[in-house]
Amino acid sequence: MTSQDYIAREDNFGAHNYHPLPVVLERGEGVFVWDVEGKRYFDFLSAYSAVNQGHCHPKIIGAMIEQAQKLTLTSRAFYNNVLGEYEEYVCKYFGYDKVLPMNSGAEADETALKLARKWAYKKKGIAENQAKIIVCADNFHGRTITIVSMSTDPDSYSGFGPFTPGFVTIPYNDVDALERELADTNVAAFLVEPIQGEAGVFVPDSGYLRKAYDLCKAHNVLFIADEVQTGIARTGRLLACDHEGVRPDILILGKALSGGAMPVSAVLADDDIMLVIKPGEHGSTFGGNPLAGKVAIAALEVIKDEKLAENAERLGKIFREELSKISSEMVELVRGKGLLNAVVIKPKDGKTAWDVCLALRDNGLLAKPTHGHIIRFAPPLVINEAQILEAVAIIKNTLE
Ligand code: PLP
Repeated sequence: MTSQDYIAREDNFGAHNYHPLPVVLERGEGVFVWDVEGKRYFDFLSAYSAVNQGHCHPKIIGAMIEQAQKLTLTSRAFYNNVLGEYEEYVCKYFGYDKVLPMNSGAEADETALKLARKWAYKKKGIAENQAKIIVCADNFHGRTITIVSMSTDPDSYSGFGPFTPGFVTIPYNDVDALERELADTNVAAFLVEPIQGEAGVFVPDSGYLRKAYDLCKAHNVLFIADEVQTGIARTGRLLACDHEGVRPDILILGKALSGGAMPVSAVLADDDIMLVIKPGEHGSTFGGNPLAGKVAIAALEVIKDEKLAENAERLGKIFREELSKISSEMVELVRGKGLLNAVVIKPKDGKTAWDVCLALRDNGLLAKPTHGHIIRFAPPLVINEAQILEAVAIIKNTLE
């Protein structure tokens, strides 16, 4: 079968809820992926930052195979001998009392919202069903009904109402707007992405997270960080919040928690928050399965062993520096942090960011536009300096 055959088959039998770049991949190793015709590409999307540790990292896949041969799933109806080991490991790794394991990022976000509401009623004393959660315009937290209820992107919410009430939207990167809304004593939490990834890698002003956190504390409101995309070394620190010394009350993780090997997400919080949820009030058949536990431990070990946050910080600087030297009328702006970066593209001669991504593909590098005119560049964090420079040369030649 050729790439065209594979694409036609997906088109025939799969729902049309994605618009993939036309390339059919069959193998990955480190920063590279290969298509079914054997052509090699730099992966500069990393499955939306899930593959921070590189494709098929031997340590992660080794842990996966070993555990898969013993026990994969018990459900939470019974204990298993791995979950506690993983829970202790992940809690100590990120510095929280408790973890609630889930699978997808969206589920972890939903978990955090439920936790915040329950805390509001049990601890803060908000009257039942009155809790509000402040969210930011242009957010992306996933695709469930409640999550699209918080979205300001018509593609996300149009046609999917009625929506879940209880959200207040403010502009991103606007502490004054946050302060105004915090005056409402029914506010339970503020949910924020430390950098808005899907919106196009919007990096807020330096000091924004710190000020937002301090305001939340002054109003007895939970600060919830969605680090599903920014977390786990992507931005040059273990967490993007670490850049400002902010420790979220509720931390949401996903994607790279498994190094891309399987869906593993988590919500972390201290006891006074996490223990408001009682048996039977939340859960998931697959959440906390032993396979996920072993995979996540290995994935987090790789981050530390290979100093991937430090690598992202150093190579991110080089990448932005080199990209800003590109002389092309199509480059409007380069922005990002660590190895989460984006180029804002100005269409030229009818060529858009999509055309640029097709040309990048032809030249051996995969990236995907977001919101039509922004290209995100987020390679696996195991990339080295020579590889970054080779990738920059591809991007430069393509744009110029
Ligand atoms: N939160 C953020 C910040 C994300 O970027 C994403 C996915 O891109 C999600 C949540 C949803 O994660 P998932 O696709 O695993 O449900």
